[in-house]
Amino acid sequence: MSSNTYISVVIPVYNEEGNVGLLTKSIEDALKLYKYEIIYVDDFSTDKTRQEIKDLENPNVILIELKRNYGQSSALAAGIEFARGNFVVTMDGDMQNDPSDIPNMLELAIAEDWDLVTGIRAKRKDNIIKTFPSKIANFIIRKATKLHISDAGCALKVMTSETAKNIPLYGELHRFIALNAHIDGARITEIPVKHHPRKHGVSKYGLGRTFKVMNDLLLILFQRKYLQKPLYLFGNMGMVFFGLGMLINLYLLYIKFLGSEIGTRPLLLLGILLILVGIQLFTIGIVADLLMRTYYESQNKTPYNVKKITSFGTTDKKTALHVS
Ligand code: UDP
Ligand code: MG
Repeated sequence: MSSNTYISVVIPVYNEEGNVGLLTKSIEDALKLYKYEIIYVDDFSTDKTRQEIKDLENPNVILIELKRNYGQSSALAAGIEFARGNFVVTMDGDMQNDPSDIPNMLELAIAEDWDLVTGIRAKRKDNIIKTFPSKIANFIIRKATKLHISDAGCALKVMTSETAKNIPLYGELHRFIALNAHIDGARITEIPVKHHPRKHGVSKYGLGRTFKVMNDLLLILFQRKYLQKPLYLFGNMGMVFFGLGMLINLYLLYIKFLGSEIGTRPLLLLGILLILVGIQLFTIGIVADLLMRTYYESQNKTPYNVKKITSFGTTDKKTALHVS
């Protein structure tokens, strides 16, 4: 354990009365040897969650109250934005994750210099309606990227503060924290963690999430490949379609001159369709490309992430200019 390790445990809670007190206690037991803060982000609970957190009167606890129910991702984002530690731990507030796993994950991250350590719920205590779709999503992620994550949906994660603060967390992107971190160049590993059935309260999600997950997944995979140059995808497809359409119609023009009747041929329709679709795809590509520029430029985002800069002389830009 290193003495300058400071852990921010970020926990979004929405109607988790009966859980927060026990959870706080078990986090304290697990993190006795560390410096830490527990950040509860109350996502506009309608039960006694907020009051239960306040009643703890615990100096290690910070309560962030949101103005309305924004959802788990936004709540996480609020907590991570506030987090002051050099490590951020995310977990659910329903006692399904076990804080006793945190020290192991943290020590692994420190010892092997991982940016993110995520849990695998070895014996997941949820029903098949939840587990089957997430198996498919994990499979697609594994096939489409080089990221080998067995359980993308495990909320228990330990990451460096820098990694956490760079992760996009709007909509329901909390399910893709590891994938997005991976795309940003984070080094990621996973270890088995405990998982318990929910004792108090109910799950906040139904089957509807399966479709959201698929949409998000497709978007992220698209972004991963084409975020910087969407024109390459749409433009290439557009040119191929346009080219095929032109070939077909030139052929029809040729046989028309030779005297054939072409007005009734389905091929004519196909040719026109391909030309139109081709032009459309190309223009979508141009619009998407312009959008990407606003995305980067308006937020001062860089298209790269620097891992480390090593200077063998001065790092001061002004001095460097004078020297040369
Ligand atoms: N949660 C939240 N806002 C919401 C829905 C959920 O902050 O709108 C929190 C919830 O209190 C819990 C975590 O997100 O701490 C995960 O929710 P849940 O346990 O219902 O998800 P499941 O385990 O069923 O996937
Ligand atoms: Mg849960």
